[in-house]
Amino acid sequence: MEDPTIQSLLEEGKRPLLSYEFFPPKTDKGMENLKREAEILREADPDFVTVTYGAGGSTRMKTFEVCDMLRDMGYRPVMPHLTCVGSSREDLYGIADEIFDRGYRNIMTLRGDPPKGDTEFRPAPDGLSYADELVHLLKERHPEFCCGVAAYPEIHPEALSPEADLENLKRKLSSGGAFATTQLFFDNKVFTEFMAKAKAAGIQHPVIPGLLPALSMSQVERMCGMCGSSLPSELRERLAAAGDDEKASEEAGIEWAARQVDELLKAGAPGIHLYVLNKSHAAMSRPLLDTIAKHR
Ligand SMILES: Cc1cc2nc3c(=O)[nH]c(=O)nc-3n(C[C@H](O)[C@H](O)[C@H](O)COP(=O)(O)OP(=O)(O)OC[C@H]3O[C@@H](n4cnc5c(N)ncnc54)[C@H](O)[C@@H]3O)c2cc1C
Repeated sequence: MEDPTIQSLLEEGKRPLLSYEFFPPKTDKGMENLKREAEILREADPDFVTVTYGAGGSTRMKTFEVCDMLRDMGYRPVMPHLTCVGSSREDLYGIADEIFDRGYRNIMTLRGDPPKGDTEFRPAPDGLSYADELVHLLKERHPEFCCGVAAYPEIHPEALSPEADLENLKRKLSSGGAFATTQLFFDNKVFTEFMAKAKAAGIQHPVIPGLLPALSMSQVERMCGMCGSSLPSELRERLAAAGDDEKASEEAGIEWAARQVDELLKAGAPGIHLYVLNKSHAAMSRPLLDTIAKHR
């Protein structure tokens, strides 16, 4: 059975969309954990879920395995991510056909990061250099695909300038991207200012904010280091005040995420994408569930 496209869900506009992002675990135990957590998360009735794509071809089957598992559990639509890393054009045509034949109609379309140890992204022989080229390739091969693309409210680390990064987002959308999902951020002001600039640059596509409910200071600092997201002083102070008290840290992080969700949906965001990191605990917490339910 074919998945509905996320574009069609956005166009229906019945309610702000809720989506979760999972990653393929490396071990069988990780797979079992994911299955258990995904079963719990189903209760929140998300509108779609996505599964990340690792570097190199070896993890491709893992992405599909997790997508199929989630679909068997009743999640729909399920959106695999796809990157340009390590694949020639021919490979990408083959992967696109496989995704299509399995009934998936949505793809989070990315360039990908350089493999570990490399500082610079190098395209595979006869491969693609940027995500907009992958959007183009996928839409050319299967026009039915709905391609999501990545947006960076705090600017992609390799971008030449904020303006060049926005131009890139515009290019990805005008190449056939249907919507964008953002890198995680903790400061809503960053998103509001980014959206104002995006609109001024002529971007009219839906942009779904991506949020991570913070569970500890060390986790937040690690994620900010990896993604280049800033940590607002108020959140830093709250997490610092919680100290080693795990429960108090979680409460502070969850309360912060619930406040972000409330403000963003009140301001008209088309949905919320939660980086759940294969865990249900924060996403299924009362403050987050109640806040999301209030807007749906
Ligand atoms: C929602 C989301 C999901 C993600 N999922 C995954 C995943 O599953 N697997 C994974 O490996 N990574 C994932 N990532 C991370 C992503 O792959 C990295 O951030 C990667 O470095 C950039 O990918 P992109 O698609 O944004 O690249 P692009 O849009 O191609 O941009 C990459 C950089 O190149 C610049 N650029 C673009 N075009 C040009 C040009 N013509 N000339 C000069 N510069 C240019 C851009 O400004 C940017 O700095 C995800 C990120 C997000 C936000």
